[in-house]
Amino acid sequence: YVGPKTPNLAYKLEEFTSLVEAAGFDIVDVVTQFGRADTRFYLGSGKAKEVAERDFDIFIAYHSLTPLQVFNLEKLFKRSVIDRILVILTIFEKRAGSIESKLQIELARLRYELPKVKEYLRRAKMGEQLGFMGAGEYIVDAYYRHMVRRISTIKRKLEEVRRSRAMYILKRREAGVPEVVITGYTSAGKTTLFNKMVGENKLVDGKPFATLETYSRALDLWGRRIVLTDTIGFIDDLPPVLIESFHSTLQEIIDADIILLVLDGSEPEEEVLRKLETSVETLGEVGVSRDKVILVINKVDKIGVQKIRHLRNVVSKYFEWFVPISALTGFGIETLKTVLFLKVNGRMSTYSTKEL
Ligand code: GDP
Repeated sequence: YVGPKTPNLAYKLEEFTSLVEAAGFDIVDVVTQFGRADTRFYLGSGKAKEVAERDFDIFIAYHSLTPLQVFNLEKLFKRSVIDRILVILTIFEKRAGSIESKLQIELARLRYELPKVKEYLRRAKMGEQLGFMGAGEYIVDAYYRHMVRRISTIKRKLEEVRRSRAMYILKRREAGVPEVVITGYTSAGKTTLFNKMVGENKLVDGKPFATLETYSRALDLWGRRIVLTDTIGFIDDLPPVLIESFHSTLQEIIDADIILLVLDGSEPEEEVLRKLETSVETLGEVGVSRDKVILVINKVDKIGVQKIRHLRNVVSKYFEWFVPISALTGFGIETLKTVLFLKVNGRMSTYSTKEL
């Protein structure tokens, strides 16, 4: 279930739907709240009761919820209630590659859940029955303390990890192995591309460089070794509590030598352009130079040659050329590898769009 007060723009809902799916949930129905909502329940009280009667496992709200709203809804539905922040957190958790971003994300989850547990604790102290969570005051209290302790442990670990990451980068640079990261918006096809490139390559043991990251693999490009890393990428309207986690994933991009910026070419042109603009802006803000970026337009199996040509004009403000691929069918992957090989060997600037 996706919650009430549906945003005016249909595409916002569409986008949220794809986030919910990327987080691994199956949407069985979408509920919209047209009338006035009861702030205690986020939905109108009539609507909330109606939803409670339906068949679903988890209620997912489009917006961020207050701990009180989560508490009230969970009590009414006797099922879990998740909001926008948790959806994005779940994607982050699924996709975080580096130890640093994993820790950072766990920290964000703890910080997010702390007020909720506090609310449960407050209620438990008042002797209230605690709905589906069912835990007594003692257990909630112990859990609360555990969370507080874990937060300080994570903060300490983060310091250590940052130091060892700096060492890792130094080692990699000394060995002259360039790091190539794949980034772009959710659902652009980053992971499909990563798997395609890694799957076709024989040298995938990844040692000694890939041990630190979950989504890194060593690849061999005609005798030239590179490390390829998949990143979480970009998400629109990031809730403020998640910005720190996002920055730790951005760090992987900042540290990279080459960035493959993947766009879903099958989306409407305005969407392709909007996502390109936002990505370029974000990369610019953290000081990534444009000539490190290779633009990759994915899902060309879904579009005609005409549109591919047209996309050149669409992106021309930012990029002179791009590599059209289909991560799904494998179309263009060899070209992409060739481009990477040339770029890694520092010969890319001499090639123009037409030659590609
Ligand atoms: P990510 O969120 O950027 O990692 O995107 P995924 O790799 O998970 O892909 C999102 C969805 O797009 C999946 O359903 C993929 O099967 C699909 N997809 C990825 N690449 C292609 C492609 O080249 N063509 C088509 N038609 N679908 C693709």
